Amino acid sequence: MSERFVGQVTLDGPSGTGKSSVARALAVRLGAAYLDTGAMYRAATVAVLDAGVDPEDAAAVADRVDAARIEVGTAAGTELVQVDGVDVAERIRGAEVTRSVSAVSAVPAVRRLLVDRQRDLVAGADAIVVEGRDIGTVVLPDATLKIYLTAAPEVRAERRAGQLGVTDPAEIAEIAADLRRRDEYDSSRADSPLRPAEDAVLVDSSGLDRDAVVDRILELALCAVGKPV
Ligand code: C5P
Repeated sequence: MSERFVGQVTLDGPSGTGKSSVARALAVRLGAAYLDTGAMYRAATVAVLDAGVDPEDAAAVADRVDAARIEVGTAAGTELVQVDGVDVAERIRGAEVTRSVSAVSAVPAVRRLLVDRQRDLVAGADAIVVEGRDIGTVVLPDATLKIYLTAAPEVRAERRAGQLGVTDPAEIAEIAADLRRRDEYDSSRADSPLRPAEDAVLVDSSGLDRDAVVDRILELALCAVGKPV
């Protein structure tokens, strides 16, 4: 199937919608590259925290991220995330980084820097699936297909808890509160807020398993390049 799709699929939406696993599986099915832009903002956050910089200090954050060498791989089958040559693939998913990433990603100079790198990485691929918050609205306004993935808040909290192996109701409530806090922060920031592009297709994953969501988007992607399944 790899010779069939050429172009970019953007996958935006809040956390806990199954976006990452859908994006990776979709890239494999399309024979496309995959870029997790959230991993770039998370890696930038590691650089900030390790330097002892306050995530709310925009000028210091911008300087630190500018100086850091942030590398994120584009192969759908592997996860490569490095800061200054050090593997941080696991650390970027930790609570400390998750707590601070919204503040770091709200800094306009950080966004400019990372958006430039994202566009460079996309330019190097014939076919790519790119996931994030502002990919369809800002990073790739001319993408072949734009998807905005949503899910009911309680479904999103349960999914995130499942990924983290959490079963305690109090902890699940904490995860739900954290999702709400990040959504609110990401949607209300002045620079590139989370919102669907005008020409995005809205897909609600609440009642669907991952493969059903992937099938639906795959069909839309092939239709978009005039090659229906
Ligand atoms: O997708 P993920 O949950 O890993 O993203 C982490 C954070 O990075 C988001 O909460 C958001 O603050 C930021 N982000 C962003 N723009 C993107 C991708 C992620 O601001 N394109």
